[in-house]
Amino acid sequence: MKAAYLSEIASPFIVGDAVIDAPIGREVLVDVKAVGLCHSDVHLGENDFGFSAPIMLGHEVAGVVAEIGPDVAGLQVGDHVVACLITSCGHCNACARGYLNACRNGRELYRARTENPRVSINGEAVSTPAGMAGFAEQALIHENQLVAIDKSVPFDRAALLGCGVLTGAGAISNSARVRSGETVAVIGCGGVGLNAIQMARITSAERIIAVDLQPGKLELARDFGATDVIHAGEVDPVAAVKEITGGLGVDHALEVIGLVPTVEQALGMLTTHGTAYLVGIQRPGATLDLNIDGVGGPFLQREHGVRGVWMGSSNFRVDVPKLAELYLQGRLKLDELVSRTISLADINTGFDELKTGTVARNVIAF
Ligand SMILES: [Zn+2]
Ligand SMILES: [Zn+2]
Repeated sequence: MKAAYLSEIASPFIVGDAVIDAPIGREVLVDVKAVGLCHSDVHLGENDFGFSAPIMLGHEVAGVVAEIGPDVAGLQVGDHVVACLITSCGHCNACARGYLNACRNGRELYRARTENPRVSINGEAVSTPAGMAGFAEQALIHENQLVAIDKSVPFDRAALLGCGVLTGAGAISNSARVRSGETVAVIGCGGVGLNAIQMARITSAERIIAVDLQPGKLELARDFGATDVIHAGEVDPVAAVKEITGGLGVDHALEVIGLVPTVEQALGMLTTHGTAYLVGIQRPGATLDLNIDGVGGPFLQREHGVRGVWMGSSNFRVDVPKLAELYLQGRLKLDELVSRTISLADINTGFDELKTGTVARNVIAF
C-alpha cells in the first residue's frame, strides 16, 4: 500500500510503499478514506519522543472497516469508523467510569515485540505512535480506538471528529461544563479553538470571546459563534475581555495555543469562581509561575481555578457519534473546518500550510 513515513525525526515525509499485516485479536483493518493533518503530528514528527525510525504518523482517521480480527465484537466489515488516539483497555476502573483518557493500560492494545509488526517498510518494523499510522491507504487499529458513525457523514468531515473537534468541543462540554448564560474566552482560534467556540454557542454561553493574532481566524471565529473578537496584536486581551464583560472577566478562559504567556492571560481574565483551562499542548519542561498571594492576589480571594485538559476530557465512543449527529442536524460546523482536501503526495505542502497558522485543517483524501 502507499504510505507516507519519516525516515528520521524532523525530516520531510517520504511517500512510498509499506506492507500492512492482517488483523489479529481485536484489531481492525480500515480502508482509510480521509486523514487530517494535526499539530500533534508536527510535535511527533519534529521532536524525539523515543520512537525508532521509520515512523508513520496520522491519527485523524475516518474510513471503512475492510477486515476484522477474530476477537472483534463491536464492529463489522463495511462500518464507517472514526479513530481516536486515546488508548483504553476497557476493563480498568478508569475505563469502567468512562474516563477513557485516564486509562493506564493503553499498551495492551499494541502488538508485542515478538509478534509481526503491524506495518513494515523494506522488511523493517515501523513505529506507529498511538497505534495509528493513518497516513496510508490502510491502517490496522485496535477496536477500542474506533467508533462507528452514521454513514451519511462525509469522510473528510468525519476525520476531524476524533481529535480536533473532540478536544475543542469536549473542553467546553466535559471539562468546563459550560452552562447557559456563562461567559467564555477562547485564546487561539485554530482547529481546536474554533470547536470550543462552536460548542460554547451550542450550549448557549452568553458571551463567547475569541482571541487570536490573525484577522482571518477571528473572522472564522465569528462564523463559528464568537460574540466578540479580540485581535491580540492590537490590544491587551486581558483588558479587552474585562471591558467586554463590564469589568468582571469570564467564567471560563481556554488557552488553546500551548504557551505560558497566554496561560497567564487566561488567568488574568477570570471573574470570581472563574477557571482557566490549559488545552494547548505545552513545551516539554514548561512551568507556570502562579501568584497565590493570599492578601493581594486574586487567585485565593476570588477562588480562581486552573485545570489541565486532555483530549477534551472525552469519552470518544459517546462523544464522536454525538458530534456526528450534531453535524447532521446542521448544528455543528465541520465543512468550514476543512481548509483544503489534498492527496497523500501533497502531505509536505499540507503540513507547511498548517505550520504557517493560516489554515484550520488540511485533510488527505483517498
Ligand atoms: Zn490530532
Ligand atoms: Zn482502562
